Amino acid sequence: MKKLIIIGSGPAGLTAAIYSARARIETVIVEGLLPGGQLTTTTDVENYPGFPASIDGYSLVLEMRKQAERFGTVFVSGDVKFASLVEKPPSLTLETGEVLQAAAIIIATGASARYLGIASEQKLRGKGVSACATCDGALYRDVPLAVVGGGDTAMEEALFLTRFASRVTIIHRRDQFRASKIMAERVQSHPKISIVWNSAVEEVLGAAADKVTGVRVRNLITSALSDIPVGGLFLAIGHKPNTDAFKGQLDMDETGYLIAKNTRTNIAGVFAAGDVQDSVYRQAITAAGSGCMAALEAQRYLESLVQ
Ligand code: FAD
Ligand code: NAP
Repeated sequence: MKKLIIIGSGPAGLTAAIYSARARIETVIVEGLLPGGQLTTTTDVENYPGFPASIDGYSLVLEMRKQAERFGTVFVSGDVKFASLVEKPPSLTLETGEVLQAAAIIIATGASARYLGIASEQKLRGKGVSACATCDGALYRDVPLAVVGGGDTAMEEALFLTRFASRVTIIHRRDQFRASKIMAERVQSHPKISIVWNSAVEEVLGAAADKVTGVRVRNLITSALSDIPVGGLFLAIGHKPNTDAFKGQLDMDETGYLIAKNTRTNIAGVFAAGDVQDSVYRQAITAAGSGCMAALEAQRYLESLVQ
């Protein structure tokens, strides 16, 4: 049996490992299908403290990984398919069938942005298609941009993008926003933002240029197609936390985010850190910060077992 297993190798899991391994706790990270997490899918990270000239996402998590390894963290390739958390000790079953047990567990499985799922969108991900305006917005200066979605995130993303874009078009599938009134009003009164109602993105244009050049939009009432020239497309249609393996055992909100108090879940010895328990901030620095908190909480819990 291991002392501590951390599920997930993004900023939250890696930071937790730096703290726990440095505290001489035997620490194992199960990496998941995306070693390094969401940051490996982006280029410049300009808002992580300590890198004034920016750092690419892959290098940032690689440095975190080296730091965790330096203190003895062991990395296991694999994806947790099933967790039995109420048992003592809790156990995790990987996709290979291998079962791991640990005295304490930190869940840092992150959240995945929802995408439309159309082929052209997948092809141009990272080449003008993004799901994070805070992260990638500054890369698109003085070009028109589009945002898909009608919730608060779409409003926030659109307003944020007006700092850089020449114009922002919100494409929404209905004729009214889901967003709070105040956010919707801010968007609707913004001189740089226009709204295309009752419409869905049919195709992201630019495959030949290998970068986004526009979007083909279908009006859902008339079925008419129209092309909007844009240099970037930002999806803001919600996030899905990676919590399927823990359903029925851990408290979650209605969208599947883990509910944790100071990283402690409803099961003693099971902690949650990073985007998997944060539907609001969803940043590398906040994920790393809660990873630190979870490691300190796990350390306290493990110490309580030997008293
Ligand atoms: P993640 O990074 O999502 O990592 C989750 C980890 O869990 C992964 O390693 C995955 O393999 C693993 N995992 C998932 N399910 C399982 C399972 N069942 N079993 C085992 N492992 C599992 N934030 C910033 O602060 N600045 C930026 O510039 C920035 N740019 C971004 C650009 C893009 C394109 C995206 C998508 C996000 C960006 N973010 C940025 C947000 C930032 O990446 C996230 O907030 C951060 O990565 C969250 O860290 P995390 O460790 O909680 O989760
Ligand atoms: P959300 O409220 O679930 O909104 C998602 C939006 O995307 C909806 O408008 C939805 O359309 C649209 N959508 C979903 N799937 C789609 C698809 N396949 N194609 C096209 N459009 C699609 O998600 P969110 O905006 O990320 O917000 C999540 C939570 O965080 C909310 O509770 C929100 O209030 C909160 N939040 C608050 C703030 C703030 O207070 N400042 C900021 C951000 C987020 P429909 O409307 O037609 O369903």
